[in-house]
Parts: sequence; C-alpha cells; structure tokens
Amino acid sequence: MTMKLAHGILFTEQQIQQRVSELARQIQRDYEGKTLVLCAILKGSIPFLADLMRHIQGDVRLALIEMKSQVDGQHASILFTSSLDLADRHVLIIEDIVDTGITLDYLLKHLDAERAPASLRVAAFLDKPEARRIEVPVHYRGFTVPDKFVVGYGLDYQERFRNLPFITWVEPE
Ligand code: 5GP
Repeated sequence: MTMKLAHGILFTEQQIQQRVSELARQIQRDYEGKTLVLCAILKGSIPFLADLMRHIQGDVRLALIEMKSQVDGQHASILFTSSLDLADRHVLIIEDIVDTGITLDYLLKHLDAERAPASLRVAAFLDKPEARRIEVPVHYRGFTVPDKFVVGYGLDYQERFRNLPFITWVEPE
C-alpha cells in the first residue's frame, strides 16, 4: 500500500514551539542544581532535543543512542551509543514518540541494569496510548496523538518528512 501525506495538521509549528518551551521550564525546575544528561534516541528525536535543550538553563550534557525495533514488533536492540558515562548521572531519555512501548521498555531496563544512572526518566514529544502493549513511564509528554502514523518534526515515513516543522500523518493513497 502506498501512503501519502494527509492534508490536515495535528500540531502547528507554533503549538509545538510553545509546548516544548513549557516542557523545558518544567524539566529545568525539576532538575534545578543537578547535572542533567539528555539521552536522545536517534533519529526521530533530533528536532525535539535541539529545541528542548536550548530552553533549559544549567549544566546539560548529551548522550545519543540509536535503537532498532525488530520486524516482529516484539523486540528492540541498540545499534549505536555515543561515548558518555551515565553512571550516577541524572538521565532523561528524549524520545520522539511512544507507540507500543517496546523500544522504551527495552532501553529503560538496559540502562538501569548496565549503566547505573542516579535517576532515569522519560520525555516523549508524542504519546500514542491506544497502541500501547507494554506499560512504560512517560514523565514529560508533549502531546497525545490518535492511532495514526504521524510524521514531521523528526518523525519519518520511510525516512521522508522528518524536516516538516509541524506534525501531520500519512494515509493510504
Ligand atoms: P514503540 O517501540 O513504542 O512501538 O515505538 C518505537 C518507534 O517507532 C518510535 O520511536 C518511532 O521511531 C516509531 N514510531 C511509532 N509510531 C510512529 C508513528 O506514528 N510515526 C512515526 N513516524 N514513527 C513511529
């Protein structure tokens, strides 16, 4: 089935910018006086990470992880991790969207067991609760979306549309 970009917009550039700055304020308050490591999941979270971090004042560090969701939709694995020690650090995972929860569940368990952070939380730009198969904590949430395949602001359909500054969705042609 070929998919095309829908005509509608779910969240405009202005709504996104407003919401991301609100989240940043909340995060800054919660981590006041602490060193914060933003651990971004590539590639979809790049615009969210870039906008969010510029609104957070204080000692903010960066780690990058690329994950692979397996084709069976049951498992996830790690493809790439940047160099940065997470041990005893306050780590905030930056995710583009939480869908089934499988990717995040795997990453949370892996980081907790292998990297021993002082604290571990999740900031997800989008949350699609209807698709959830594993319960995962989402401490900071940009927006909740319906069960559509959304694109834009870092989110792709077959690697396209990541550069759109707003959130829309794809639908059958
Ligand atoms: P999960 O493991 O929670 O099912 O989702 C893992 C990844 O699938 C997300 O980080 C994202 O990259 C991708 N994904 C899930 N739902 C969507 C969607 O609606 N649009 C796009 N572009 N990617 C999605």
